[in-house]
Amino acid sequence: MLVDEETAPVVRLIFGYALDGHGPNYIRRRLEEEKHPCPTWWNRKRGHRNIHTKWEKKDPENGRYIWDFTVIKEILMNPVYTGAIASQKTEYRFKIGTIRDKKPEDWIIVEGTHEPLVDKKSFAIVQEKLKSRQRPGQSGEINLFAGLIKCGECGKALTIRNTHEKFPKRVFACKTYNAYGKQHCTQHRIEFDTLYSLTLNKIRECAAAALTDSEAVADRLTNTCEAEQKGQREAMERTLAKDEERIEVLEKMVLRLYEDMVAG
Ligand SMILES: [Zn+2]
Repeated sequence: MLVDEETAPVVRLIFGYALDGHGPNYIRRRLEEEKHPCPTWWNRKRGHRNIHTKWEKKDPENGRYIWDFTVIKEILMNPVYTGAIASQKTEYRFKIGTIRDKKPEDWIIVEGTHEPLVDKKSFAIVQEKLKSRQRPGQSGEINLFAGLIKCGECGKALTIRNTHEKFPKRVFACKTYNAYGKQHCTQHRIEFDTLYSLTLNKIRECAAAALTDSEAVADRLTNTCEAEQKGQREAMERTLAKDEERIEVLEKMVLRLYEDMVAG
């Protein structure tokens, strides 16, 4: 394997940003600003795979400069750039195909097979930095609003994080904004405490209304619940239909295997 001189600079750049302590989201914003085409575009240019990303479909002019978060993370975690070859990165089942990604510690790595783009020490530092960025549960507090609040503009979830201040606050912001920057959505920032008190006030208001005119409130609640249940039922029916399809495929597969066994 040889170093690809056309794409090597961008790989070095990505590792450089990561070594400076920046995460995949920051790197993605920089790559877009600096107009570096994404790997899907390179693949197409070289006639490998004729696939367009959703961003390229949306914006044929500039979509190529929008990188996927996971692509950057995969590059940063891929030992191939240190001169090693990693294989068996996914788990594969006969007749089903790839089922899931394996953990990096389960990859098979052959060292020193080609010229490295990144030295081993830098690669190890980047792995540590990536790990330290994953702060599971952050403060360990439970997010009361998990899965409940969405961005009014783009419909994606609002995600919570702690600000880097002396007295950190928990704030929500649009996931699209966090990931892709201000070209794609606005922040829609709201502090957890503000949202909490607004919600609490609303609940108190409803409770007070229920005390004065219980019938009207009961009607309103029933209407809301019915609409929600209808939506949920439809979603469940769709899932069920998919599951049934899947079972049918599996049954055929088992039958074929059985036939093979009998024949063999
Ligand atoms: Zn948004």
